Amino acid sequence: MYIKSIELDGFKSYGELTQINGFDDKFNAITGLNGSGKSNILDAICFVLGISNLSHVRAGTLQDLIFKSGQGGVDKATVSITFDNTHASQCPPGYEDYREITVTRQLIMGGKNNYLLNGIKVQNKKIHDLFCSVQLNVNNPHFLIMQGKITKVLNMKPIEILAMIEEAAGTRMYEVKRQSALKQ
Ligand code: ATP
Ligand code: MG
Repeated sequence: MYIKSIELDGFKSYGELTQINGFDDKFNAITGLNGSGKSNILDAICFVLGISNLSHVRAGTLQDLIFKSGQGGVDKATVSITFDNTHASQCPPGYEDYREITVTRQLIMGGKNNYLLNGIKVQNKKIHDLFCSVQLNVNNPHFLIMQGKITKVLNMKPIEILAMIEEAAGTRMYEVKRQSALKQ
C-alpha cells in the first residue's frame, strides 16, 4: 500500500479543497517556502492515521486542526488519503478486492469525528485495525521522527538505533526477556 493522493478540505491552513497527487511509491519530499503548509500535510496524514497525541500534530485541541479554529467560515476539517492497493504482498487482510483504499477522517466543530472507508461511514476500530494490519501504527513511539528529532537519531550509537528499531518492530520485549533469562 502506498499513498496515491491526499485531499485536504478545511484542515489547518488548507481552508479550500486541495488535492495532492503524484506520489512516488517509495520516497517523497515536500518542498516549499517557510510557513507554506508542508508540515500541515504531514499533520493531515497523522490525523487520518488516528494520532492520539495532539502535540505531535502541533495542536492543543482538536479544534486547532480546523481552518482558523472554525473562525474562518469553515466548520469542519476533512482529510482523505487514497492508497494504492495493487501490490498483493502488502494488501491488508480482507481488502484483496480493492485496487484503491480511501480513508477519510472528518472532524466537525463541537468535536464530532467520523471515519469513512471508500466513502462509507465506519467505526473507528475498523480503520485502526486496517492500519495496524499493515504496521501503520502512528501511535507507536518510534513511528514518527518529528522535526528536530532527526539530529538526535543521527547522534545515536548503533546499539541505541538497534533498540529503537526493535521497539518499532515490536521485537524489543523478546530481547528484554532474553537478557533476563541469560542473567538467571
Ligand atoms: P517550515 O518550512 O517553517 O517548517 P511549513 O511549510 O512546514 O513551514 P506549516 O507548519 O505546515 O509550514 O504551516 C504553518 C502555517 O499554517 C502557519 O502560517 C500557521 O498559521 C498555519 N496554520 C496552522 N494551523 C492553522 C489553522 N488551524 N488555520 C489556519 N492556518 C493554520
Ligand atoms: Mg515544517
